[in-house]
Order: sequence, then C-alpha cells, then structure tokens
Amino acid sequence: MLMRKPGVALLLLAASPLCAQSRWFQPSLLEKPEVRKALQSVDGRAADIIEEWIRLVEIPAPSGKEQTRAKYIRAEMEKLGLSEIRTDDISNVSGVRKGTGGGPTVVFAAHMDTVFPEGTGLNVKREGDILRAPGVGDDTSNLMATLEMFRALNRGGVKTKGDLIFLASVQEELGLLGAKHWLETSGYKPDMFVAIDVSSTEVWYGALRIDQFKFFYTSPGAHTMESRGAPSPAKAVAKAINALYEIPLPPVAEGLDTFKLPVLNVGMLGGGTVVNAVPREAWFTVDLRSLDSATQDSLESAVVSTARRIAEQEGVGFRMEKKMGIDYSKALPQKERLNHQLVQTALATSNYFRKTGTPEIVARDVGSTDANIAVSMAIPAVAIGATIERMPHRLEENADAGSIVPGIKSLIALAVALTSH
Ligand SMILES: [Zn+2]
Repeated sequence: MLMRKPGVALLLLAASPLCAQSRWFQPSLLEKPEVRKALQSVDGRAADIIEEWIRLVEIPAPSGKEQTRAKYIRAEMEKLGLSEIRTDDISNVSGVRKGTGGGPTVVFAAHMDTVFPEGTGLNVKREGDILRAPGVGDDTSNLMATLEMFRALNRGGVKTKGDLIFLASVQEELGLLGAKHWLETSGYKPDMFVAIDVSSTEVWYGALRIDQFKFFYTSPGAHTMESRGAPSPAKAVAKAINALYEIPLPPVAEGLDTFKLPVLNVGMLGGGTVVNAVPREAWFTVDLRSLDSATQDSLESAVVSTARRIAEQEGVGFRMEKKMGIDYSKALPQKERLNHQLVQTALATSNYFRKTGTPEIVARDVGSTDANIAVSMAIPAVAIGATIERMPHRLEENADAGSIVPGIKSLIALAVALTSH
C-alpha cells in the first residue's frame, strides 16, 4: 500500500528542474545499466525496507548505548561484503565499498543513537503512510536508507572509481562525539563527507556554532536553621538563569523555517542532597547556538561573564565546564562551501528525487550534524536526508513511510555522482 504508482518517476523527472551548477550529476547517469538496475531494485523492496526500518527503530539506542544497533549494522556490512569493517572503541561502525581506483573517497554517515533514554516506548505506530515513534526519523530513517543504498549498489553491480565509506556513528546527539572520534582516529582522510541526518526536504552545507556549558556554584553548606543570610548556590543558580535570559539576543536569522537563531537554552539544572540544608553545590547547563562565529563569541562572553558576576554578587564559589565547542577556524569560507560540487550535486540529486508538488530545495548555511566535524576540518561536507520527517527529538516524531524509496534512490544517485568522476 505504500508502493509508488508506476509513472511517478517520470512525473518527478518532468517536474524537477535540475540545478545547472552540478557538473557531476546529469540524469543520463541514471540511465547506465548498472545504475538503472540498482535504482529499480529498490522499488520491489519497498515493503521489506519499511518493515526493517520499523525493526531498527524498535532497537533501543540511547547515546552511548548503541551496541545492539551497532551489532546489527556490522552484520549487515559483512553481508554486503564491505572491506575494512571495524567497530571502534566507542562503537562507531564503518566499512568500505572499494572503488576501482582514481576517484575520491566519500563518507556516507548516519548516526545510530537517539535522544530518547532507556525505557522510552519505541513501538512504531503506523497510520496510513505515516510512521510514528521516537527516533523514527532522526536518524533511524536515514540509517536504514544508507544501508539500503549500499545494498542497491551491490544488486546493480555498480562500480565506482572512488571508495565509498559507510559510517554508522555513535553519540551524535551528545555533541557529534562519534564522528569526531572517527575522523580523528580512524586514519581515513576522506575527500568528502555526507551526513544523512535531516529531512529529505533539506540540504545543509554549514555548521551551526554550538557551545555547551555547565556552571557550578558552591558553598560550605549550612543547616536550614543556620542558613539565614548564608551564601546559597541554589539562589545563585536562580539568579543566574534569570540574568542569562535577560541577555539581549540579536534578531532571528532569516531563511530558517523552524529554528530561531541565535538562541540560548538552559536545559538541565540540579544540586543539593537534602531538603533541610543549603546545598554545597548547585549547577545548570547552557546550550548556545548561532550561525556565525562572531555572534557566538560575543554571546559566549556575555553568558560566561554573567554567570561569573552572579557568583561574585552572591558570595558563592564558581567553576564552569565547557562541554563542547568545535573549533571552526579551519572551516572553508561560506562561498567556497556552497559552490563546492559536493553541495551542488547533493542539491541536484535531492531536487531530482523530491516529492512532486513540494517546493524546490535550497541549500542553507546551517548544520548540526556529523557533517559539522568535517566542516571544521575543512573537508567538503553536506547534510541531506532520505525521508520526509517531522518533530525530531520529541515523542511525537513521525516520518512518511513512502518517502524512503525515492530517498534511497537519491542517495544512490549522489553516491554514484560523487565517486564516478
Ligand atoms: Zn540526527
């Protein structure tokens, strides 16, 4: 019931204007017999793919506890006959589909972890074409699509010049930690990096500036009976959070649909051990995000100085941890990133296979995916998606089941285009 009617592909072809700027993708590429066979092989498998997608969603994979999914993906990589299959010390799984030689090495990365803690109900509910479950979109849909893309290349007998690396990463939601670890320690020096981690209606070529802080306030503590006038870390936390939300933010950046940037958010707070004493320690976290380094730097100094000032005012001890902060000083300039053939080709293939009647996809200078790490290392990078999905990181998360077939085809087209020239 989720199969696309014959003829839809032709309609798509007619309805999708090609981005003239991609030299690596032309529709004729899809007419090569092996590529055509790979593409066609996906159609007959739609029902099985959706079933496997649902099974994958139902394997719990909170960040840091991806081992069961990692085993599953590793076993599938072995069936695919990939070379150099590895599970690293934090459970990133990677394998290489060897090219014939002389082409670029391209990573296709999807993350295995989800933001949902252990014990979250993961049963997928199916309502018509909509699949509902925590993690059904981010990033299980794309993990499934990437796996199937590699299978389809094999079924078609597609040979590429360059190597294609399948990376199933971990701890993406903790701050892109898995991809960072893999890019820094695996020994691979990829020429391009594709993160499959957004909706298929988006193409991102930037890297959002993200910094996360944990601020601690401390005191010697005191029984409630002795607490009158004593310095209180709890009170300092309350005052600091209040003061942080008073920091004036620059106007919301234009061109973003649901994201309102720049932004700061206090996501966690805690402290104290008993009800009848001044806590010895209380703390809170700040997640700070902007589109550019200048804005981020000025907000960061405002946040840190505000947190410190409140500690002084309240007479409590102060310390902070910076949880994450990627150094983007090596990132390529915006124009160079946008005009890179990787981004232009991703735009062309995503538009070619986009759902009829949906608006043309434009590339946006944002990103909060594994591709950010590549951007920071000056590796040409892009984030794309293989399904239409909504409400990531919420229990109401959902995705369109039928969108995965054209999504996989668009991944096939991209993989072939990037590694065949
Ligand atoms: Zn994600």
